[in-house]
Amino acid sequence: MRAQFPVLHQQVHGHPLAYLDNGATTQMPLAVIEAMRAFESHDRANIHRGVHTLSQRATDAFDGARALLKRFFGAGAEHELVFTSGTTEALNTIAGGLWAGGPEHAWLREGDEIIVSGLEHHANIIPWQHAARRTGARLRILRADDEGRVHEAGLRQLLSPRTRVFAITACANATGERPPYEALLRLAAEAGALTVLDAAQVASHAVPDLAAIACDYLVFSGHKMYGPMGTGAIVGRRAALERLYPLRLGGDMVDWVSYEAAGWAPLPARLEGGTPNVGGAVGLAAAARFIDAQDRGAIDAHVHTLRAHALAGLQAIEGVRVLAPHAVQSALVSFIARDAHPHDIGTLLDERGIAVRTGHHCAQPLLDQLVQGPTTRASFAIYNTHEEVDRLIEAVAYAVKALR
Ligand code: PMP
Repeated sequence: MRAQFPVLHQQVHGHPLAYLDNGATTQMPLAVIEAMRAFESHDRANIHRGVHTLSQRATDAFDGARALLKRFFGAGAEHELVFTSGTTEALNTIAGGLWAGGPEHAWLREGDEIIVSGLEHHANIIPWQHAARRTGARLRILRADDEGRVHEAGLRQLLSPRTRVFAITACANATGERPPYEALLRLAAEAGALTVLDAAQVASHAVPDLAAIACDYLVFSGHKMYGPMGTGAIVGRRAALERLYPLRLGGDMVDWVSYEAAGWAPLPARLEGGTPNVGGAVGLAAAARFIDAQDRGAIDAHVHTLRAHALAGLQAIEGVRVLAPHAVQSALVSFIARDAHPHDIGTLLDERGIAVRTGHHCAQPLLDQLVQGPTTRASFAIYNTHEEVDRLIEAVAYAVKALR
């Protein structure tokens, strides 16, 4: 497996690289790199516009990538996939699209309520704050308890006839918490809300099945599932996507244009204005193919055992506290250590060739609530080994001692 990931074969500060920052970005296997190289070398052209052969090949590649990714997420005939540059753009497209059309089209209006879980990345908070400000809707938070969990009972209390949107992550990137999103989405959908699932942290190992969940918009990023940066998508119900006023206005997203007005093209083009990242879409589809070739369940099981190993080792270090230790189905561990700042721990780990993430992980409200500050996070992927986890544990033990 490791032979398929060229980037792993290097030394950092004289040590073999142990890349444990997969929650931020995973590495790309040769199959993905090669698929993109082949497209850029032979088929690169703009799509939809040309009658020439390369344009047709590029269009076929783009459409083929869309079809493959729809299957990957269990999309049915009622679903469509809209390419974006990642989860952030996907969430902005949704939140902005629900009000930008003006009062006569908007799904969100004054007095409406938007519920967002307390586990979210800033990308699933700030666009909703903005939407609430612009429409006069109210943003309500499904707060996590002291262990970082959210509950159905909490959502029941918040839901009302005014609830128009419910947004939640499938895995909290700052803690590893895996909320019961299936049940929560169903409750919100039954109450008449549009439902949003941030699948950024699970697309690489625990892909949600759209056919089985009450989800109007599922969003993800390619670079967190062995694919290229600057790629991602919204996979959503057609009817829900139709509600979004397009934010990327310009070429390729219109049927007709006059100097006074324009008529939108059908989905998905309507929400994909401008030249898309075709090479990226090809790479993203190759990444989904790579995951399926490995067997999704096997990847999931592997990252869980690495996490369990890391959890046991880190908890045995005096003064270390792991957040959401109960989140056994997660691919990451986030921890704090008494008298040792995460930034300093991360720096000492880097000196030993171990890459981890430190900081607020773009989830400051949740970390402010749980630990009043930043954490160190190790996150695992298919190519990580138990030996790397042993190195992590040993290096954290050393760092915590050295920093006291
Ligand atoms: N949501 C979650 C849960 C994430 O982990 C991330 C990336 N850290 C994002 C959203 C944002 O993804 P991107 O930066 O790829 O847009």
